[in-house]
Amino acid sequence: MDIEEAKKVTGLVNATETFGTVDGPGVRFVIFMQGCRMRCKYCHNPDTWAMKNDRAVTRTVEDVLEEARRFQGFWGENGGITISGGESMLQIDFVIALFTLAKRLGIHTTLDTAAQPYKTDPYVTAHIDELLEVTDLVLLDLKEINPERHKELTGNKNDNILEFAQYLSEKGVAMWIRHVLVPGESDFDEDLIQLGRFVKTLKNVLKFEILPYHTMGEFKWRELGWKYQLEGVKPPTNARVHNAEKLMDTESYQDYLTRIR
Ligand code: SF4
Repeated sequence: MDIEEAKKVTGLVNATETFGTVDGPGVRFVIFMQGCRMRCKYCHNPDTWAMKNDRAVTRTVEDVLEEARRFQGFWGENGGITISGGESMLQIDFVIALFTLAKRLGIHTTLDTAAQPYKTDPYVTAHIDELLEVTDLVLLDLKEINPERHKELTGNKNDNILEFAQYLSEKGVAMWIRHVLVPGESDFDEDLIQLGRFVKTLKNVLKFEILPYHTMGEFKWRELGWKYQLEGVKPPTNARVHNAEKLMDTESYQDYLTRIR
């Protein structure tokens, strides 16, 4: 990709975070892209769903990268930039351009995705290899292994998402798998066991983590005038989190710090 052309590619950005510590290794500059086709009941960024909204701003790759690099001194050895959302892959041209420039500057690139566009969006699917070439790490959300429960929880099917995980495995792309544990929605023992078995079949999984459901995004649903889908659902107890960790053997994936680069 021509550098000057890459700088001018634009994307619709919902927000940026300067000191992200949970979206990839080290300290990271996180870019939240606008637009998502999933409808997760627990989504804490529902304001990113629409492909356009009043808050999101059209920005060039050059502009976003310049902002990110102001904080480069804080990234240390493992930090870098993470593209999140929304669903970042829906603006794949922007992500490819940004990561291409970042890689030329030696910046670690992380793609945070739920992979819904893979095999459902022909444009994204056709450009996926180009994206993966400039991606150091994929944070992949596997929300439910059971297809019916996945549909109920997210409004979407999951066979293409599981296929994406397998594709990353075949391509040798490093990944962190994340599973949001929601009582009564994604914490069924039989599904956790099956998910654990599925992840064991994948190569290059550097980390497998459980994200306990929380209600911090509930206010955003109210601000949008929407009824919160999980009203009354409480975060999982420590016992349920430990149960999930045990059933999915997440501990055996925690060696990412020595393998990340
Ligand atoms: S994939 Fe992410 S942004 Fe999209 S609905 Fe689900 S939680 Fe929200």
